[in-house]
Amino acid sequence: MPSGLCIIGSGYSAAALLLHLEARNTPMDGVVVIGPQALGAGQAFGCVNDDFRLNVRAELMQVWPDDPGHFASWAATNITTDRDANTDVGAFYRRRDFASYIASEIRERPALASLPHIKASAMNISPAAGGWNIELDDGSATSASRIVLATGNPPPVWPFCKQIADSPSLVRVPWRGDWPDTIDSDACIVVIGSGLTALDALHTLRRRHHRGKITLIAPDGLLPPVQTGWQNADALEWPQGVRASGFLKFMRDTVGDIPWEDAEWQRRFESLRYHISAAWQRLAAGDQERLIRRFGWLWSLARFRAGPQAFNSAQMLLDAGQLDIVTDLVTGITTDGDGVHKVRLAKDADLSADAVINCSGAGRDPLVTRILDDETAARHQSVRHRPAMTSKLALLQADGTPHPNLFGIGPMTSHVAGDVLGSASIARQARGLAARLAQ
Ligand SMILES: Cc1cc2nc3c(=O)[nH]c(=O)nc-3n(C[C@H](O)[C@H](O)[C@H](O)COP(=O)(O)OP(=O)(O)OC[C@H]3O[C@@H](n4cnc5c(N)ncnc54)[C@H](O)[C@@H]3O)c2cc1C
Repeated sequence: MPSGLCIIGSGYSAAALLLHLEARNTPMDGVVVIGPQALGAGQAFGCVNDDFRLNVRAELMQVWPDDPGHFASWAATNITTDRDANTDVGAFYRRRDFASYIASEIRERPALASLPHIKASAMNISPAAGGWNIELDDGSATSASRIVLATGNPPPVWPFCKQIADSPSLVRVPWRGDWPDTIDSDACIVVIGSGLTALDALHTLRRRHHRGKITLIAPDGLLPPVQTGWQNADALEWPQGVRASGFLKFMRDTVGDIPWEDAEWQRRFESLRYHISAAWQRLAAGDQERLIRRFGWLWSLARFRAGPQAFNSAQMLLDAGQLDIVTDLVTGITTDGDGVHKVRLAKDADLSADAVINCSGAGRDPLVTRILDDETAARHQSVRHRPAMTSKLALLQADGTPHPNLFGIGPMTSHVAGDVLGSASIARQARGLAARLAQ
């Protein structure tokens, strides 16, 4: 008979759930975590590059919704030598500092500090008497009565069909940030994508005095706007019973005609975000699909603002003429005998590059793919590579009824729960799920 609760994934979502379970005095006997990295670090914060910074100011990195300034106070006390953190619009600490903070929150709680942690990846889960069997990538297996999937941001793949082998100059997963050391400072670099990861890449290259030409390729060619010093964004109540057009109109009316570089635009936008997950879940699936298809890219651009440090680096590289932005799609990469990469574009001529950095976003989750293919869980009706889930975060069975003992948390739920990608929204989700699991 399997025992206990197993959390698959060991990043921030897993840590936030455990912290909220412990805060409710939930007995931790039989709780186990499976994941390759230290608890709390994950793809987002488990990086080794000191140039990679949090993309929101410290006050917005929240694991405790009732004590939102907790990380900012911890950082002010514990991070004293990072002079580059402070900007006109707040302190933007290194990403790895947030992992240190979560680690210290865990260390302070003996029930969590001694929790069993299996340092492996789960390859598959299958129903067993009274719960689940879990197959691990080291060939072993374990079992649990309940599972929470906290698998987060799947590693990126190249944004074209024919995948290519990783090498020091073909960087498929740039998030950890260990790649710049192996790239020559005169190298001609192609960056694929123009979101926050691309800005991290530009920032670390500039900080390392990179001299070679950098070409950034992206379908819209737009860089993210910079964070402003917005304050006092009160949570707005969304209208009930609206369709996609009403949802969009409410957003447009709220932000008005103010330029989006303005702090007031961001304040109004942030006030929309508090209850957007609930409003999103009230929309019909077809309306959700239409909004994602037509406006998903615009939402992402407005939502994911860059920290001032990375934003300024991109502007400096542009002003110096070292960075070019090309509006196009990369369709493939080949490498000649001298190690020079040929980057094929959909519209323009091929580009030659000494190194290519893939900043095109998260890939597909192999474990989720497996359980959908095996029909262990039902597919979402419009986002077919993601599971169907209830608003209480239970995955659905093939017959459409909720699994009583299989849940998800974090970015892997964003197709049903809306904007649960940042630390604060994941923390609110973790608090709610902890309350239900503890019952
Ligand atoms: C590069 C990057 C930077 C970010 N920066 C910020 C920021 O500055 N501020 C902010 O608020 N948010 C940021 N985010 C958003 C981020 O998604 C969330 O804040 C949060 O970290 C997500 O945590 P997670 O644990 O769900 O996912 P992840 O951080 O992706 O961690 C998931 C973990 O689960 C493991 N895992 C996956 N599959 C399995 C499996 N089958 N078996 C076992 N383990 C598995 C992975 O190896 C990983 O360790 C960033 C995201 C990324 C990708």
